[in-house]
Amino acid sequence: MSLAVFEHINQVDSWVNSQQELGYTVGFVPTMGALHAGHASLIELAAAHCDRVVASIFVNPTQFNNAQDLLKYPRTLEADLRILEASGCHAVFCPAIDEMYTPNERTAHWDFGPLSTSLEGFFRPGHFDGVLTIVKKLFQAVHPNKAFFGEKDFQQLTLIKRMAVEEKFALEIIAAPTIREASGLAMSSRNRRLSAEELTIANQISKTLLEANQLGRSISPAELGLRARIQLMSVQGLVLEYCALVHAQTFEPLDDWPNEKAVLLVAAFVGETRLIDNVVIS
Ligand code: AMP
Repeated sequence: MSLAVFEHINQVDSWVNSQQELGYTVGFVPTMGALHAGHASLIELAAAHCDRVVASIFVNPTQFNNAQDLLKYPRTLEADLRILEASGCHAVFCPAIDEMYTPNERTAHWDFGPLSTSLEGFFRPGHFDGVLTIVKKLFQAVHPNKAFFGEKDFQQLTLIKRMAVEEKFALEIIAAPTIREASGLAMSSRNRRLSAEELTIANQISKTLLEANQLGRSISPAELGLRARIQLMSVQGLVLEYCALVHAQTFEPLDDWPNEKAVLLVAAFVGETRLIDNVVIS
């Protein structure tokens, strides 16, 4: 089956309907394009779980709180289509902006406490409302049986799970592990902007997270968070936005280790490029 490319909601909607009527399950992988092996792993995971896989490529303007970041976002459609086909994707939805938004449309707003207001929510005001608005629209257009998101964007993944429950979407959200370069650096469409020197600096992020994960619960949450923060603050050329250890579901700060998972999350600038990464401390 070769890759079907749709630009309109009614096309992807009726294709998914036809597949579901034939009894096939449909998995959905939303992306902003500039695809790499991390995205390919999501497609492969979706293909392992579902009979049909639909991806989307849409650089969502409402989730960019920085106009320059939106302008600079890499766009590599031809290469993306080849990666999708090679990873086992059956259809891709590539809408234009006016297919998804009416002129001057405002994003919806969700308040899930620290989960939506802390860390990425704090440093990128409006970002999550943009993300949840587009993901809701995409879920309505594609109505998949399962949707796949990367743990690389851990706060986003957790919020989307919450939104899907709140909005009563009848679909399952599946988390995929972060795919890394051999150096440990989490793969990201933004990595292609890093110079060789910046790559060496960026590698300190995953190194710090890996070391924190090895220490795990052998020390207190406050000590673990502080060690990681100090380690990253001492890296020349890296400007830390946050390094925080929180409860993995609520994003509340931790006094003690919870019974549930904790997650250590980092956002930092290396040169002009903003990078995020995290590690779950089980
Ligand atoms: P993006 O195109 O950056 O919006 O990402 C689309 C999806 O790919 C999101 O669910 C991301 O969490 C996921 N993703 C991005 N980078 C990685 C990675 N290195 N490993 C696994 N999933 C990723």
